[in-house]
Amino acid sequence: MDSTLRRTWAEIDLDALAHNYRALRARMGEQSRFLGVVKADAYGHGAVEVSRTLEELGAEYLAVSNLDEALELRQGGVSLPILQLGLTPADQTAQAIACRVTQAVWSESAALAFSREAQRAGGTLKIHIKLDTGMSRLGFPCDGGSFDASLEAIRRVCALPGLEAEGIFTHFAVSDEADEDSRAYTLRQYRQFTAMTESLAGKGLAFAIRHCANSGAAAGYPQFACDMFRPGIVSYGIGHQAEDLGLRPVMTLKTVVGAVRELPEDTAVSYGCTFRTARPSRIGVLPIGYADGLHRTLSNRWQVWTPWGTAPIVGRICMDMCMADLTGLPQVREGGEVEVYGIHNSVNDAARLAGTISYELTCAVSRRVPRVYFRSGREVARELLLRG
Ligand SMILES: *Cc1c(COP(=O)(O)O)cnc(C)c1O
Repeated sequence: MDSTLRRTWAEIDLDALAHNYRALRARMGEQSRFLGVVKADAYGHGAVEVSRTLEELGAEYLAVSNLDEALELRQGGVSLPILQLGLTPADQTAQAIACRVTQAVWSESAALAFSREAQRAGGTLKIHIKLDTGMSRLGFPCDGGSFDASLEAIRRVCALPGLEAEGIFTHFAVSDEADEDSRAYTLRQYRQFTAMTESLAGKGLAFAIRHCANSGAAAGYPQFACDMFRPGIVSYGIGHQAEDLGLRPVMTLKTVVGAVRELPEDTAVSYGCTFRTARPSRIGVLPIGYADGLHRTLSNRWQVWTPWGTAPIVGRICMDMCMADLTGLPQVREGGEVEVYGIHNSVNDAARLAGTISYELTCAVSRRVPRVYFRSGREVARELLLRG
């Protein structure tokens, strides 16, 4: 391996991604298209390689959350349709058309601006209408008081020159929660979604692609498959729902034991002296820190996995390094590989200890960490430092 790869790296198992893709498709039924959510560099997994793999597997759509992410995919040779879920400034409309991006449209004023810019560019912007059924983020409101006004606004939007309305969608707020209130909330969101799409169809406005299911809904409500579903986190094999569905983690974050220190009893370790050895200790210094994405809140809480057992992270996690207690693991030597998150050391558990969600931990794995892609146990691609 290259020297940069002897520090800290993320192994991306494309076979696990393929397994998860097939399992999710089987769950949602063949009539429902698969939209792979690859925003935020595919949740830290590397958007270009993940998208290429999904394209090869037969996914029909991808989604990002800004135009630059879509451009990166086009430059990487990805030709699938791409839905831009987030806010695109209207003055980027020509660029969106040029890189064949489908834009989510959340209001009439946004639609008017896109329409004006599309006409100016002499092109047509494909759009999906975004409905707000309870997330209160983007979208035409669908609650009782706003329903009729939104219905009429959507009809006007879809008739605007320079726009081509292909789809309509909504996003769930608590579809990943199993309690009764959350289930009632999700069912109400779904009822508002179908009420609006059916009312629009009744006025002669039928959309080719209706979609609502995120990971939570794919796991908990496969009956919401519609014409397309939009799994993010579960396709990466992360979260309790992925575990329940037998999906496999795609990312394994690894580092090495860079140095081993023998420290006497009652020795303070790292900034703040928050840890003191309770016995003569063998402490490993690992070249991974919060600048690599290992949250500092995991100091004195998380552990690394070794083939002989786990080693607790002791003392504060520094910017570029942290320490792990290898006392009792004499087999672990300098240069040995350890797992920070992955198959043996679930990122879900680390997220719980850090007081956050696993999404945040894989998204946080920084640019300094090379991604190495594996297929059938063999390395097929790598992305090194200062990608792009
Ligand atoms: C991020 C996102 C998704 C995917 O969410 P997961 O919880 O990762 O499945 C789906 N739809 C929209 C609109 C999103 O913003």
